[in-house]
Amino acid sequence: MTKHIFVTGGVVSSLGKGLTSASVGMVLERRGLRVRMQKLDPYINVDPGTMSPYQHGEVYVLDDGSETDLDLGHYERFTDSPLTRDSNYTTGQIYQSVIEKERRGEFLGKTVQVIPHITDEIKSVIHKLGSPDVDVVISEIGGTVGDIESLPFLEAIRQFSQDVGKENCLYIHLTLVPYLKAAAELKTKPTQHSVGQLRQIGIQPDILICRTERSISQDDRQKIALFCNVPLEAVIEERDKDFSIYEVPLSLVNNGLDELIVDRLSLQADTPNLENWHELLHRLRNPRHEISIAVVGKYAEHKDAYKSIYEAIDHAGIHHEAQIRVGRIQSEEIEREGPERILAGYDGILIPGGFGERGIEGKVDAIRFARERGIPFLGICLGMQCAVIEYARNVVGLENAHSTEFNTDTHHPVICLLDDQRNIVEKGGTMRLGTQPASLREGSKARASYDEAEIQERHRHRYEFNNAYRQQFQAHGMLFSGTNPDDTLVEIVEVTDHPWFVAVQFHPEFKSQPTKAHPLFASFVEAAVERHAGRAERNKPNSTRPQESPAESE
Ligand code: GLN
Repeated sequence: MTKHIFVTGGVVSSLGKGLTSASVGMVLERRGLRVRMQKLDPYINVDPGTMSPYQHGEVYVLDDGSETDLDLGHYERFTDSPLTRDSNYTTGQIYQSVIEKERRGEFLGKTVQVIPHITDEIKSVIHKLGSPDVDVVISEIGGTVGDIESLPFLEAIRQFSQDVGKENCLYIHLTLVPYLKAAAELKTKPTQHSVGQLRQIGIQPDILICRTERSISQDDRQKIALFCNVPLEAVIEERDKDFSIYEVPLSLVNNGLDELIVDRLSLQADTPNLENWHELLHRLRNPRHEISIAVVGKYAEHKDAYKSIYEAIDHAGIHHEAQIRVGRIQSEEIEREGPERILAGYDGILIPGGFGERGIEGKVDAIRFARERGIPFLGICLGMQCAVIEYARNVVGLENAHSTEFNTDTHHPVICLLDDQRNIVEKGGTMRLGTQPASLREGSKARASYDEAEIQERHRHRYEFNNAYRQQFQAHGMLFSGTNPDDTLVEIVEVTDHPWFVAVQFHPEFKSQPTKAHPLFASFVEAAVERHAGRAERNKPNSTRPQESPAESE
């Protein structure tokens, strides 16, 4: 029988519930258990696909094309649990489904209510992940205990243990134990209140994971245990990690969390195998290179907007034992100040995906700079489309070439709507989404990076390269190194006369893992490491090679 773990959060948001849930999933997998992960989000949007990155950070895309919460990115980076549409539900989806059933007359004339109809629907989506092949389902409840909108979810998970038996469920509550400077003390009261609120709803947490910036004393742990009605060993400290988020799973194991879970749920588990994770941290602590990469996007200031991109860069750094300083640059800044001042010191430039016209010209300028100076460049989705626009204008000679997303009247629509997008009016879930195959051209950088002829990558776009321009681009030195199998859609472009210039219509960042860097990110970072080494060599005082101009050095 599948066991269920429910993870709730208290006191404040942004405690890292997604990361903690992913870490719990990871350590259970490392003990030989088969795990499934799920996020239940209390907001009313049907999915985050139409939400602004300011509201919600990046939209994470799964193989099956579902547009999901960014916490699912943590799940995929930390675990091998396969994720599907059933791994992320929102209040919007739950209500939509109940209302559709009501319209079909499935409730046989009954009054449709939050309890039992909405809660039944929530329980059914939790049950969907259980099966004889699954040992543990981890369901993370978004939001903070005490929010009005999370009440139906909490009620549903309370009922769940009545349905399947208390011995088959475990409630983990993530809470904050803040340090109060004025009192020079850690404070346990917010945790007591948060657990108090959970208990009012009828949920007694089994385990408390206490987020804290300082070590919690034995006295404080005892106090928390007493007031929150949990045994002392179930008060688990999770200190802030100033070095790396990849320390979280190890620290949870050190504090006995996995043992506690295995014991409480009577699971048959092996001892944890964390060898490659220790190795990963060792590499992270002992870099052999130091390089810098500029990520030029629309939402540079917002660290969650390009979450998976920053993570994938880190993974490639771990792979090459390189410490990477990532400059988060707003493309509008380049429009104001020019690329030279802002980008000259970087060893690589990456332009991520995006929507909307703001900052586009800054991205085009950044790409021109990377192309002309031979700086390794990786363009992703909108980043590829901007690379095409730049090449059209500055190499092919197509004046004012543009994407019809930004200028419908351009004389040279080098990027235009995908054919099957022309009549679509609804915004939610209607892009070209999810995993699609591509074939790679022999002799290209892409082919060398993947070392494979056929690849599968995730997509999320409405616009594409306009095939009417293919020959003109080819004649001017652009290589179409990846296309869909029938060669009707361009998936990868490369500038051949350049150390490393590759731009892709898909999102490789969604398939990178800390112990398995994505091949494109790995090659990009390798090229940046080489550039850095070359520059250092050229700038040595007794070097016989020509020195770089001051503007090009750091
Ligand atoms: N806005 C572009 C499109 O819809 C790019 C999308 C993206 O970067 N994810 O095609």
